[in-house]
Amino acid sequence: MSNREASKGMRTVMVGDVMLLAPAEAVEDAAALDRYMAQPYMERIRALSKGARAKPGVLLQADVRHDAWCPVLAGTGLCTCNPDVALRVVSGGERK
Ligand SMILES: [Zn+2]
Repeated sequence: MSNREASKGMRTVMVGDVMLLAPAEAVEDAAALDRYMAQPYMERIRALSKGARAKPGVLLQADVRHDAWCPVLAGTGLCTCNPDVALRVVSGGERK
């Protein structure tokens, strides 16, 4: 699957300095976005971002891998699992 296919129906949101792809319907208005950003793993993304020492011009993306049963994957709700979260540089920097 290409990045373009993976991005269908997705929107980019920023969690601190980190880009995250979110289901469009999960962030379609301010209330939905507030609920989305309140998911527990957002704090883990922020913590990882501090450890990664994001620099100007370097774009980091969070890859969030939910458990197979997580409502996020079925599009039926917000995350109730304990997903694996990893950051990667998508542009402007070299992986270290
Ligand atoms: Zn989940």
